[in-house]
Amino acid sequence: TTTDTTYPLQFELTPTPAARADAEREAMLADPGFGKYFTDHMVQIEWTVDEGWHDAAVVPYGPLSLDPAASVFHYAQEIFEGIKAYRHADGSVWTFRPDANGHRLQRSAERLALPKLAVEDFVESLKQLVAVDEKWVPSADETSLYLRPFMIATESFLGVRAAHRVGYYVIASPAGAYFTGGVAPVSIWLSTTYSRAGKGGTGAAKTGGNYAASLLPQEEAYQHGCSQVLFLNSTDGAYIEELGGMNVVLVYRDGTIVTPDSDSILEGITRDSILQLAEDRGHRVERRRVSIDEWRDGVASGDIVEVFACGTAAVVVPIAELKGDGVSIVSPVAGPDSLTLSLRAELTDIQYGRRPDRHGWLTRL
Ligand code: PMP
Repeated sequence: TTTDTTYPLQFELTPTPAARADAEREAMLADPGFGKYFTDHMVQIEWTVDEGWHDAAVVPYGPLSLDPAASVFHYAQEIFEGIKAYRHADGSVWTFRPDANGHRLQRSAERLALPKLAVEDFVESLKQLVAVDEKWVPSADETSLYLRPFMIATESFLGVRAAHRVGYYVIASPAGAYFTGGVAPVSIWLSTTYSRAGKGGTGAAKTGGNYAASLLPQEEAYQHGCSQVLFLNSTDGAYIEELGGMNVVLVYRDGTIVTPDSDSILEGITRDSILQLAEDRGHRVERRRVSIDEWRDGVASGDIVEVFACGTAAVVVPIAELKGDGVSIVSPVAGPDSLTLSLRAELTDIQYGRRPDRHGWLTRL
């Protein structure tokens, strides 16, 4: 069920009924929050086992009509992506490493037995949506238009097998600045009761089930005053994996940067980019197993000087404390001169066009 599209898809445009009024959109863009408001249009592409990908279209945003037997509702055959569009000072709109998201969507598709969408068509789907909803890209500092591509099994069939009919969609939602008044360090809850992903499971795929499994531990985190959960590996609980929605990075006193290598975590594009920028500055980067003992002992001895989380939504966030049952690891506060905040600034400067894009990471939408 992994038909590769070998031709660029042509998108049909149905722009009407008319977009929301300018005043209504402006009011939403003035205080967008996250994931609350959606733009006027969406992309949809159909896939069937017989025809492959076809009927690519940009249509007015609205409810999907799905049969109650659609297999996504029963067996969660679903994958998604998250990527932002940034408005530069000259008004142009850009996105960041869309090919990396496109390839990750293909890896997720492979694991969930869904068809692969060509990376070229993935990038084109983002361009097509932003072309018609360009006015929805906000321009205030650190704001963006969050793009949410997703793929679901739409076949009406209750047998447990890969669906023969699939839909790919892209919706978009304006996103406010994650931090207002400076980047604030966060506390993280160490879950020792629950795992996010098992050996041989779907941890490396961006699939809804991983997030469904994280909601209960996430509630536990909130109850303990923490904003996200840190998951350990499922086999022995000795090694750190990632947060519910972000990767983790440790910074050593000698400048070495360490991040978990595991086949059950999501390979974050923010993390990959931050580590590249650090390498460019001459930092040693190690992708290897990292035990929870290493974190605790390193902070205690002063060898670990900064810990941060990273992902598309918040970019880079210093971790001030890791809390758990009988555990408290308080990391040094990331000051204005910290590597954490300086890498964050460098990355956002590239994304917003304030610094040269020497790696060719930006794509104009
Ligand atoms: N891990 C998980 C579980 C995530 O959901 C995300 C967000 N996509 C990340 C890591 C960070 O990935 P990225 O930097 O590509 O947003």
